[in-house]
Amino acid sequence: MFFDTHTHLGSRQFDGDLPAVLERARAASVSRMVAPATDLKNAGKLLALAENEPDVRVAVGIHPCDADTVSGDAWVEELRTLAQHPKVCAIGEIGLDYFHAPPEGFALADWKAHQARVLTAQLELAAELRLNVILHNRESWEDLTALVLPFSDRLRGVFHCFTGTFEQAQPLLDRGHLISFTGIVSFKNPGFMADTARAVPSGQYMLETDAPYLAPMPHRGKRCEPAYVADTARAVAGLRGESVETVAADTTRTALEFFRGWD
Ligand SMILES: [Zn+2]
Repeated sequence: MFFDTHTHLGSRQFDGDLPAVLERARAASVSRMVAPATDLKNAGKLLALAENEPDVRVAVGIHPCDADTVSGDAWVEELRTLAQHPKVCAIGEIGLDYFHAPPEGFALADWKAHQARVLTAQLELAAELRLNVILHNRESWEDLTALVLPFSDRLRGVFHCFTGTFEQAQPLLDRGHLISFTGIVSFKNPGFMADTARAVPSGQYMLETDAPYLAPMPHRGKRCEPAYVADTARAVAGLRGESVETVAADTTRTALEFFRGWD
């Protein structure tokens, strides 16, 4: 039984064949999926989908690359309303992204400040609603951890698609946060990620596809889908010298405890 903790089922890339994608996931023993939203509209789309799929839960939030879709304060109330939905299991995907250029009309410094405001408002909301958070980082590690760590007593975060060293992760893991691995860990040269996957204790990491992106070997370069989390589990098991059953069971247990609403 595998658990894909990060799969963008609301991506337009799945609009044409989502039922077949979900069928293939179930056939590959992927028994649970968390679909993170990227903005308010995407969150609504995912909640409508999840109502009919017992193995799908949703994280609602504004992705840093879509932070320009919100301004002022009213959006926080909209997000609070969406977060009350029984299918919501976390706030996400939220974070900071300094890799992509600012959208039209934003100077770099203003864009970074706006992303930080949108992130902080969502961390406050998550803490208030007692929900954990799914965190996105792209070339923003220091600023992101500086904003998240002060919330450590009130919520837990998963640093999704983690590609750093174990030493980088350790202070976060010590505060109760998690990391999760995508298909990158299965690539031919995963670099120091291989060491991270070996070193991280069971109970402190999860698995994900980040579909439709980052397909693991042997699907690299194709559209990724939740069924492939099984390939990532096999890669992690190989690195750790554990059975795939052990990795699947450990990461499923960790995810069930992290996300609300699953027992
Ligand atoms: Zn994502």
